[in-house]
Amino acid sequence: MTSFLDALRSRRALLMDGAMGAELQKLGLKPEECGEEWNLTHPERVASVHRAYAEAGAEVLLTNTFQAIGSALERRGCRLPPSRVVYAAIGLAREQGKWVLGDIGPFEDVHRFDERKQKCIWPCVDVVPPMSICDGILVETISDIRPLVMALEMKPAACHLPFLASATYLRTDGGGFRTFNGHTPETWVQQVGPRAAALGVNCGRDVGIKECVEIVRQYRDNTELPIFVRPNAGTPKLENGQWLYPHGPEEMASWLPALLQAGVRMIGGCCGTTPAHIAAFKKVIDEWNRSVR
Ligand SMILES: [Zn+2]
Repeated sequence: MTSFLDALRSRRALLMDGAMGAELQKLGLKPEECGEEWNLTHPERVASVHRAYAEAGAEVLLTNTFQAIGSALERRGCRLPPSRVVYAAIGLAREQGKWVLGDIGPFEDVHRFDERKQKCIWPCVDVVPPMSICDGILVETISDIRPLVMALEMKPAACHLPFLASATYLRTDGGGFRTFNGHTPETWVQQVGPRAAALGVNCGRDVGIKECVEIVRQYRDNTELPIFVRPNAGTPKLENGQWLYPHGPEEMASWLPALLQAGVRMIGGCCGTTPAHIAAFKKVIDEWNRSVR
């Protein structure tokens, strides 16, 4: 059987899922509630989101663990140990028979830790070991390279898995791209690339799918690693108390050929994307995969 990493390195493109949090909110999750706790309290609802993405054509699913580290769970009133939340999340994603990546969102700035605590920086103790039964680990929405590099260097228990690392950028006044901490796409490639199996870009302020094409080109100019993207559905606007994302499924799908030609080999969606977006992506991905067979 092809491993996830072999599939990622092939010329064929892989389709990922879209946003989880917003889909859970449609199923009743309150903004202040802990969505990761739902892996245990409302497993059928989390499973229904995975199923919707699998039915839309996603071959790669992310676990519902974006903020499953201990401090992030506690902050939202969840008293469960991270490992229980992670194991439950993996089980729910695995039900669909697709590749499953353990999802890790941003974590605290390393400079808030003292020397001793730095040694147990959370991803390595809280969520990475239980994720060793996934097909890979995806760290996303990262702005600061330093804690990520430190976590990667610590070689946690699940380090045999491919580690995929995705940065989030904003547009600068000069028209370039920087993370909130000031790192450019080129710096990301240079510093994170040697420690990652694949590099990505996801979400971002004023960084939609069109801007992702530019960022991918900057990655491709500097690395041979597989590149993946999870764009958001545009920058949302608040209307009648609801966040509305401007980019619909067909509009986003129309940018996929440019992304694929720029070198992307795995595509999903971040905030505002839905199973309808992934279904629209599937048509373009299928066409691409027929052309490279
Ligand atoms: Zn997002």
